[in-house]
Amino acid sequence: MNINDKDGRKIVDIIQRYAQKHSLWVLAYGTGCGAIEIPPTMTSRYDAERFGITGRPTPRMADVLLITGYLATKTLKRVIRSYEQMQSPKYVIGFGSCTINGGMYWDSYNTIKSLDHYLPVDVYINGCMPRPEAVISGFVKLQEMISDGSANGWEKYRDNLDLYRSQQKEVIKNWQMPDYNW
Ligand code: SF4
Repeated sequence: MNINDKDGRKIVDIIQRYAQKHSLWVLAYGTGCGAIEIPPTMTSRYDAERFGITGRPTPRMADVLLITGYLATKTLKRVIRSYEQMQSPKYVIGFGSCTINGGMYWDSYNTIKSLDHYLPVDVYINGCMPRPEAVISGFVKLQEMISDGSANGWEKYRDNLDLYRSQQKEVIKNWQMPDYNW
């Protein structure tokens, strides 16, 4: 592989992505029952930190937003606000069937059916609820996508903000939030 180009950008990108994929700082938004699988994933039995995956307490310190299950429209508003406070590049993982198609709440009157309608999901981890092995495999998939440059949901969100906003406002009736703080 030729890693040199005229301005040396390629080698800088490779090093940058290598560092990014091995330091994934996660804001785990425990929206549904799947959140119960996060403690074993992060602690000594599965020890996700050996992959560079660790938790952070605030959106501004995090690279990855982990949504762990069904989302009520009321919670969706807080999740959008949290995502928009994160600095780019940033990634979203949808965890559990509920984030993919509503799962067992598919016909509920106040939960959303598909997270990627409202936020740019980079990786989905399916299952109800996914085991820690599946969670780690989802993170490894995200790392591969960071390496090859395809984890670009945050760019899609920025470029299609009007579309996302209109879809968000369809379900969040009392919007009353700042429009965006890039
Ligand atoms: S996918 Fe299953 S475990 Fe996860 S939030 Fe939905 S019902 Fe709960």
